[in-house]
Amino acid sequence: MTLPAALRTSAASRYPLSRATTFRIGGPAALAVRPRTSDEVALALHVARTEGWTVRCVGMGSNLLVDDHGVDGLVLLMRGLRRIEFEGASVTCGAGVTNNQVLQATRARGLGGLECLVGYPGTLGGAVRMNAGGAPGYVGARVQWVKGIEPSGRVVYRDARDCGFRYRGSALSDLVVTEVRLLLPPADPEEYALRCASLRDRKKATQPLHLPSAGCVWKNPPGHPAAGRLVEEAGCKGLRAGGAEVSTLHANFIVNRGDATCADVLSLMEEVRSRVADRSGVLLEREVIHWHDAAVAV
Ligand SMILES: Cc1cc2nc3c(=O)[nH]c(=O)nc-3n(C[C@H](O)[C@H](O)[C@H](O)COP(=O)(O)OP(=O)(O)OC[C@H]3O[C@@H](n4cnc5c(N)ncnc54)[C@H](O)[C@@H]3O)c2cc1C
Repeated sequence: MTLPAALRTSAASRYPLSRATTFRIGGPAALAVRPRTSDEVALALHVARTEGWTVRCVGMGSNLLVDDHGVDGLVLLMRGLRRIEFEGASVTCGAGVTNNQVLQATRARGLGGLECLVGYPGTLGGAVRMNAGGAPGYVGARVQWVKGIEPSGRVVYRDARDCGFRYRGSALSDLVVTEVRLLLPPADPEEYALRCASLRDRKKATQPLHLPSAGCVWKNPPGHPAAGRLVEEAGCKGLRAGGAEVSTLHANFIVNRGDATCADVLSLMEEVRSRVADRSGVLLEREVIHWHDAAVAV
């Protein structure tokens, strides 16, 4: 089919998703489009509906493991939605605004409260979908509302209480998120900058940030030691499958040593899961999202 002119310039067929993920792994998307506005997202969804295509979104691809064969349908590359608008202590961001961009822009306005986004890649769309964060808190706690478009084309606003934020997830998987409004507390710029720098330094010292990865691959199992500790205790640090390796620095990371495939990562994860189950009786649950053709849309 012929794409509408507004989408044609930013569209690519057989777009290699290894370029859109921090793991640097993944086959092609049948069609990828890089919308710059909510209207372009709506237009792309309209085309997908008409053609019967599955739709998926990628922000920075920092929590994604894409199949070596790639995926059918349409992938929306969301980084183009970059608007940032302030209103008092609220900031409305396009879904493609990155963690770093929102941190810098809000800090310059004397706003804080986003320690939860420090020291790792991501966009705000991906952050709210995953309820990103950790020890310093979770982004869901700062959200006022999320604007998105349902596959049917209906534009919806969801208050934070209707977003279903939970550990490493939300109830936003039925939406293409286009905007996020955050409500932030004031912060002393210097003190806040120091706190953020210290969080960043701690991550640099304890995580393999110099190698491609998708961050932690396992969720922390409730009522048990952290997943990284369980993996380490099962003797998996440094374990390899092809080009994929359990990081020797942080056992919850799998790193791409240069030529890792999705199949390598999946086979390594199976081995780790089985060793951890044997050693501690805990069946680890995957945190990283695996895209393959049986995957649910968005
Ligand atoms: C080195 C490293 C460290 C990390 N540390 C942390 C950490 O401390 N805490 C943490 O929580 N995470 C961490 N992560 C994981 C990841 O960075 C976060 O989950 C991040 O918020 C994902 O954002 P993204 O834009 O990359 O999302 P993506 O990986 O692109 O997508 C993740 C999911 O969100 C969906 N999605 C993305 N954008 C949209 C949108 N606009 N609308 C609807 N759905 C969308 C995707 O379809 C996918 O299902 C780390 C990753 C790396 C590589």
